[in-house]
Amino acid sequence: MFLTLAIVVTLLMLAYTLFVRPKDIPETAAPPPYQHLEGRKAAIYENLRDLQFEYRVGKLSDADYDRTKKELQAELATVLAEIDTMKGAPAPPPKPARQTPNVCPHCSAKFEKPLKFCGECGKPMGVTA
Ligand SMILES: [Zn+2]
Repeated sequence: MFLTLAIVVTLLMLAYTLFVRPKDIPETAAPPPYQHLEGRKAAIYENLRDLQFEYRVGKLSDADYDRTKKELQAELATVLAEIDTMKGAPAPPPKPARQTPNVCPHCSAKFEKPLKFCGECGKPMGVTA
């Protein structure tokens, strides 16, 4: 009986693995790039709190407390700066190298003004500025 059960469970698991394709699994929304930094920030704050607590209860010497606190604060400053950089200045998507807008990419006809469609061959100029 147990063996039958074990076989059934194994088969079910196998079937599950075989039939669940990667595209069926909902993709989690991409986290903001600084999310892991927020996690690190929280961890550092927690460490600082722990440190202060341990210092207060006398587990740490002044020197140990000072050194660890400075290390944590330096790390915190780094993380905060990184978050600021990511939040404050989102990198603009790089612009593709633009073809000179008044030259047809198809027939190389030149025009005085940028055009959507080539006046010579009628094909799109590729630049819609
Ligand atoms: Zn043309």
